[in-house]
Amino acid sequence: MRIVIHRGAHQIGGTCIEIATEHARIILDAGLPLDTNPLDPLPLPNVEGLWNPGDQKIDALFLTHAHADHSGLVSATLASIPVFCTKETSKILLAGSLFARQPKVDRVRVKILKAGEVRSFADLRITAFPVDHSTVGAAAFLVETDRHRVFYTGDLRFHGRRPEFAQRIEAALSQKPLDILLIEGTRLGERASEKNESEAHLLNRLETRCRSHRRPVFVSYSPLHVDRFLTFFDLATRLGRRFVIDPYQDFVLYLLQRDLLRPTRDGKLCTLLMPSESEPAALRFLQRSPWLSGMRKRALTREEVLPFLNDALVLYRPSMDSWLFPHGHPRDSLFLYSYWSGYLKQEAQKVWQKKVSESGSTLELAHASGHAHPDDLARFVQTVKPRQLIPVHTEHPDEWGTRYEQTRILADGDTLTLC
Ligand SMILES: [Zn+2]
Repeated sequence: MRIVIHRGAHQIGGTCIEIATEHARIILDAGLPLDTNPLDPLPLPNVEGLWNPGDQKIDALFLTHAHADHSGLVSATLASIPVFCTKETSKILLAGSLFARQPKVDRVRVKILKAGEVRSFADLRITAFPVDHSTVGAAAFLVETDRHRVFYTGDLRFHGRRPEFAQRIEAALSQKPLDILLIEGTRLGERASEKNESEAHLLNRLETRCRSHRRPVFVSYSPLHVDRFLTFFDLATRLGRRFVIDPYQDFVLYLLQRDLLRPTRDGKLCTLLMPSESEPAALRFLQRSPWLSGMRKRALTREEVLPFLNDALVLYRPSMDSWLFPHGHPRDSLFLYSYWSGYLKQEAQKVWQKKVSESGSTLELAHASGHAHPDDLARFVQTVKPRQLIPVHTEHPDEWGTRYEQTRILADGDTLTLC
């Protein structure tokens, strides 16, 4: 068996890993580096047969999840290569391509992976395990031959809404010796000092914070982060507020068929429709879909939502200001920012933060990381005890050496051969 990290050996995002034998060759993730300038040519790592036909054929591309740093180059891959991912990942890719300019993957290429199901290519066997990451449908992969076992975590955490996912992985990996663990380390280095808040703790903290707040509460988060949506839905329920979402979140719920959480006109969960001139382009693409006609009938207008703003939790993004609050934000509002705090340092975000403070409103962080704390990762490693640990998706691969003796650091493009 051969393993090559084409990209991601010493950076976060842009991950692309090859695992091959004499008879089969697969790729795990085709990620876009996080710092890619959209005006630059696509940064394609040198992987024969992935972007153009080559002497070496690729049997399959496996995607761990629908975050661009893992799947953002999928539309640049050869159309003849099948793309394996979970059903939720395929839906999230679709929603992201329509609403958030994420890459599109042709439906005919997509092969749906179920948890625990084994897919074989000659002597390679691949099994998907659900992972409790910050987007729904994330998976990790166990890749096996008769002689070797390799596990690739993708993005991983232990403090989300589904801790049992990690327990199942630990149980499966502990059954037989694991030769190689390719493990993410996003929070190694200085980010280890960031607070390690769980989704459950986040919900309790926000409830305490919002309980005495009588003015509007706005929440900024990715509609693709369904666990965070659920946290905010629970928060709204506990506070006795209505949760007002947008068409993007409504579409994601529709795709995932979360029937229990279907927005209605009068219920706890409702959808705010923007004026037609501000509608996202996605709605034009979806003109003929039954979802859109149904959504338009039950969605509320700005004029219908504004009267109950003090009793609502509203999914918010700064681009809504032009039509929702053309004269400034309501005074004394609370804005809950549910992304990584590092994004707030970007220039565009500073303009928005100034507007928030001008209205006497408050901006507060409301985020639990999508990535495991290094101590949790180390505990996981000690449980599954790989013969070799290979860091990926980290800017600090060396730090693994201090945490686990059998660490082997590869450079991008190095080939590791298991005999
Ligand atoms: Zn991710």
